[in-house]
Amino acid sequence: MPEGVSSLLRPLVLVVEDEAAISTMLRYNLEKQGFRVAEAGDGEAALRMVGESPPDLVLLDWMLPALSGIEVCRQLRRRPATHHLPIIMLTARAEDQDAVRGLNTGADDYVTKPFAVEALIARIHALLRRSQTVSAGGPLQFHGLVLDVAAHRVSRNGRAIHLGPTEFRLLEFFLQHPRRVFSREELLDAVWGREIHVEPRTVDVHIRRLRKAINGEGEPDVVRTVRAAGYALDEEHS
Ligand code: CA
Repeated sequence: MPEGVSSLLRPLVLVVEDEAAISTMLRYNLEKQGFRVAEAGDGEAALRMVGESPPDLVLLDWMLPALSGIEVCRQLRRRPATHHLPIIMLTARAEDQDAVRGLNTGADDYVTKPFAVEALIARIHALLRRSQTVSAGGPLQFHGLVLDVAAHRVSRNGRAIHLGPTEFRLLEFFLQHPRRVFSREELLDAVWGREIHVEPRTVDVHIRRLRKAINGEGEPDVVRTVRAAGYALDEEHS
């Protein structure tokens, strides 16, 4: 690939995978799609590389020697510089329960092995889109919550809030339609995109994370759970 300005505009994906065959296959397919690719064979190397040349997205294998994918994810989320970094976990089918735990740890999405490369690429595009959402207009507001899309900043009652790309997009969508109840499927369409399959329970995980982030001590929960219907941004308690 030629170096230059154009190469800098191509998103950099860091592949963290100890199985060389999978890593090579991912590099081949990602480069074919126009991504730049960096590879790390273990968690330590991944954390070092993220510090040296920050990627736009991390594909993180769950099963790694020494430092597990979950631990790498946790450490990335703890650092302010990588708090928002889009992360997709790669898991084996038998670890499906663990995958949900992975989402709770801070991953934005997960893909189960063996996966179709096309499906993985679609998820990468969708996640990058969510993390790069830009729209015109002033900040969106609701009960002390302020979301500035252009500056990618969120605060509540003046307190800065750090959200991952998925929670950011979820909150943005809610703020665009306050008090309207959305089903999990509607939220999946609006936030994740129609072209990828995500399980409805994934929405619950991200709602939980969004709540935890935006509701501070003594502040009312502004995310309303509507039984058998879905969720709404609302000041009323159910
Ligand atoms: Ca592995």
